[in-house]
Amino acid sequence: MLDLNKNIQYIKGVGPARVKLLNKLGIHTLNDVINYYPRTYEDRSKTKKLSDVYDGEEILIIAKVITKLVVRKIRKGLTIYKVIVSDNSNNCEITWYNQEYIKEKIRQGNTYKFYGKVSNKYGKLEMNTPIVEDMNVSKNTGKIVPIYSLTNNLTQNVLRAIVENAIKEISGRIVETLPDYILKEYNLCNLEYAIKKIHFPNNFSEYNIARKRLAFEEIMIMQLLLMKLKKNYNNELNGIQFDKNIKMSHVINDLPYKLTKAQLRVLEEIDSDMESKKCMNRLLQGDVGSGKTVVSIIASYKAVKSGMQVAIMAPTAILASQHLEEFNKILSKYDIKCELLISSITKKNKNEILEKLKNGEIDIIIGTHALLEENVVFNKLGLVVTDEQHRFGVKQREKIISKGTNPDTIVMTATPIPRTLALILYADLDISIIDELPPNRKKIDTFAVTKSLENRVNNFIKKQINEGRQVYVVCPLVEESEEINAKSVLELAEKYKNEIFKDYKVEYLHGKMKAKEKDEIMEEFKKGNIDILISTTVIEVGVNVPNASIMVVENAERFGLAQLHQLRGRVGRGEYKSYCILKYQGNSDVIRQRMKIMQDTNDGFVISEKDLELRGSGEFFGTKQHGLPEFKIANIYQDMEMLKSIQSIAIKILNEDPELKLEKNIRFKKIIDSKLKERIDL
Ligand code: ADP
Ligand code: MG
Repeated sequence: MLDLNKNIQYIKGVGPARVKLLNKLGIHTLNDVINYYPRTYEDRSKTKKLSDVYDGEEILIIAKVITKLVVRKIRKGLTIYKVIVSDNSNNCEITWYNQEYIKEKIRQGNTYKFYGKVSNKYGKLEMNTPIVEDMNVSKNTGKIVPIYSLTNNLTQNVLRAIVENAIKEISGRIVETLPDYILKEYNLCNLEYAIKKIHFPNNFSEYNIARKRLAFEEIMIMQLLLMKLKKNYNNELNGIQFDKNIKMSHVINDLPYKLTKAQLRVLEEIDSDMESKKCMNRLLQGDVGSGKTVVSIIASYKAVKSGMQVAIMAPTAILASQHLEEFNKILSKYDIKCELLISSITKKNKNEILEKLKNGEIDIIIGTHALLEENVVFNKLGLVVTDEQHRFGVKQREKIISKGTNPDTIVMTATPIPRTLALILYADLDISIIDELPPNRKKIDTFAVTKSLENRVNNFIKKQINEGRQVYVVCPLVEESEEINAKSVLELAEKYKNEIFKDYKVEYLHGKMKAKEKDEIMEEFKKGNIDILISTTVIEVGVNVPNASIMVVENAERFGLAQLHQLRGRVGRGEYKSYCILKYQGNSDVIRQRMKIMQDTNDGFVISEKDLELRGSGEFFGTKQHGLPEFKIANIYQDMEMLKSIQSIAIKILNEDPELKLEKNIRFKKIIDSKLKERIDL
């Protein structure tokens, strides 16, 4: 029997040292090896004529060595080897550095295959350290070669050989995971072929066939899983029925502002879920500043007045404290008791809160991860709201839910993604979208600038502060780093405090500081006692300081667009005209395009769509930033059409066979069951 869970140490070519290196890449078993897909490929299959190449191109040539090999010792530790080769269409000078084997290998008059990057300097062709192979050998040329993500001390050749051995081992023994009728109906290759060809395709059409199959499976399983989860919730008509006589309009009519149409619509959706027998699982999506908090406050009112408790989970202590403030502002007059539970409170205080929570004296508990701890026990938890969903994993969400009996849940996220995509990626949740900002929001003017404008930017900041405003400055790093060339909080704080802004009150904030310190600084900033707050993205989510009118982002090129949009959302929350200044380095097209998008639009939906599109070209951040599921091989943007069609296929399958009990679906059932189990074993 083929044991896919076999430890990698038993694969040919893997000794103890390599086990460690492979582990670093997350590879532990035979199964991990064959599923460690290449990052990219090099096409070393087709030769090119030297007369046809362009500067910077990676090519395979077949050429004859027309000079003697010149060996020159430049200095200790540096020897270079040079020859000129010709393929009759043109000549090319080839140089190798310190590669002694070349001396034995290269003979004048012989013809070889060379693969490497060619440069064209005013018509003179050169290649540096190409791969060279004899005409009758095809180990590294003459085919498409997979390129893997590596770790130090592991080479492409070594990893490739290990994968090759692993694949030899599974050959003819890999068990198919998709039902046969699905393979046939959707014209997909079998799993074994897919795995072999994703690593070692002979041409790109083989690669495409393999990729399609693997992406199909990945998306299909995700869809079936999410839909099964949703069916589970919806079939269980054992949710809490909140009191129909408690009217949300009581609170709505008392608010100091009018809710937007979108907020009202979303509240209606929530209200009807809350009153129904079904268990609510709702995603509340809305751009920064669209007013999600007040929606959760009103839902909480309904829950509390129906005799239940509410848990609000925020990703940071700062945000939790701010929520507490807003909840109290609106709910205190209805005799509703809200409390804060974050890790920085005193033990005594904490025990008191836990006690009151347990006996039901506290109606609404607002907190961070601290809410997940074992000793947090509710009297009657009826509603769970998690804010900024992408900071919490599914398991954490399920943990808090398990503290009640089928509580209703609302997941709030500020990452606006197109509705069609949301319906696919959050197929386990019902979706409510706030697609409208409160009126009178002023557009935030955004400027992308390079270093040359630094003085003008600083003067502008001073002018704003002199008018009474406050400023955020966000850096990618906490401290200076040798590897990464980017601004750090500490470095900048030093410079601002002592030089550029020495007449102003400058403070800083970052994630490595103690929660208490962070809260104090944030409190001072809110009170207006700090002019410039330098920080990492800890302030990214949710903080609300209406007097702040400028957001400066250092090394803006290092952030995802959706994240920049979040950061920008920290200003323009009050009556003042607000600005976002994106300082960036580098002048690649993609960077400039990204900056332009930020300047041109304030619409989060447009931005996230562009972000997905641009990241399709392998930019910067993974999907983690978006709270979207991570795929190994499928690509949310590139495979949009496949996502859509697989969704309808999955619906069809589950309509016909909700429990996946039919013989033909048995392979699906096996995978889904094991995935469901994974989710439940917290
Ligand atoms: P987000 O959706 O980003 O969490 P918030 O809930 O923090 O946004 O709301 C941003 C600000 O807008 C808050 O100060 C809130 O009081 C205010 N707000 C919410 N809804 C409205 C509305 N309909 N009209 C005016 N202001 C509103
Ligand atoms: Mg918010």
